[in-house]
Amino acid sequence: MKAVRFTAWKTFPTIEEVDRPTPGPGEVLLKIAGAGACHSDVAIFEQFDESMGTQLAPAYTLGHENAGWVEEVGAGVTGFTQGDAYLVYGPIGCGACPTCSRGQDTYCYNAATQPYLATGLGRDGGMAEYMTVPARNLVPLGDADPVDAAPLADAGLTPYHAIKNSLPKLAGGGKTALVIGLGGLGQLAVQILKAITGATVIATDMKPEAMAEAERSGAITVPGGDDQVAKIRALSGDQGVDAVFDFVGITPTIKLAQQVVRRQGRITVVGVAGGPTSWDFYTNPYEAELTNTYWGTIEELYEVAALYRAGQIKPSVKRYAMADALQAYHDLHDGKLSGRAVVMPHA
Ligand code: ZN
Ligand code: ZN
Repeated sequence: MKAVRFTAWKTFPTIEEVDRPTPGPGEVLLKIAGAGACHSDVAIFEQFDESMGTQLAPAYTLGHENAGWVEEVGAGVTGFTQGDAYLVYGPIGCGACPTCSRGQDTYCYNAATQPYLATGLGRDGGMAEYMTVPARNLVPLGDADPVDAAPLADAGLTPYHAIKNSLPKLAGGGKTALVIGLGGLGQLAVQILKAITGATVIATDMKPEAMAEAERSGAITVPGGDDQVAKIRALSGDQGVDAVFDFVGITPTIKLAQQVVRRQGRITVVGVAGGPTSWDFYTNPYEAELTNTYWGTIEELYEVAALYRAGQIKPSVKRYAMADALQAYHDLHDGKLSGRAVVMPHA
């Protein structure tokens, strides 16, 4: 079968012919409907090197946003029907520690001794005709389209987890949320905030077309500029924003968040750019929280799938055939995408 392989550090992926995998005990063989291309993949093959350790070390098949149809099951697996559509929860922890037991493999106690981080992140992912997945990582999609669903596995789940953790700040009338950065995750963040909170959603990005899309999802947009902080504060009744979500994570975006958050509000940095910021007693309003989040839980992926199946959220997707999979990564790298690139190995 064909697979998009990450073969060496600082090396662009290649499409190779590899053996179709066989599901081991407790695993399911999934026929891939769609595999999303993520900025993390670009970081992995462009920026990372040996210093990242062995868990992300090549070679393996990329793709950590996957959905597809059950093809075959391994020993001991029951309750699946061939052809049924599922979304894949990517992280794979030890499966037995307290955090894995609640479906939060991202924070596995034994992460340091696991052989990989996730499907497509050290273990063979979904940019291939088939992949194997532990059965517990599969979330049913019913009759919803698995191609458009693929990005939900990361670009949907990651903002959902951040928003869910901020819900106490957004409960009640007259609340405001700010989304900074309107790529794949930010656009879905706007949709999720509209679907599960009553908050006024404010959004900002450098790209006018990204802001136009957020407006179509119900956000009020504020462009960058000298009066950006004043405009955002005015939209939040001059008291500041209850919950800020920064999907960029560079110093200026975190600083913007610190300038607009209200007293007792909350800033969640989701973007992995790693920009430093300063914090001391006087930099943030009283009791404003500054935190980060990483991906989400299996339970939350069920909730994301429920929103999708109900038509309340819908990723904006650009579809690529397997033969054009490398073009998808070029387009992502060159900033040419507005929606999420999804590769369809069987189209
Ligand atoms: Zn990702
Ligand atoms: Zn664990």
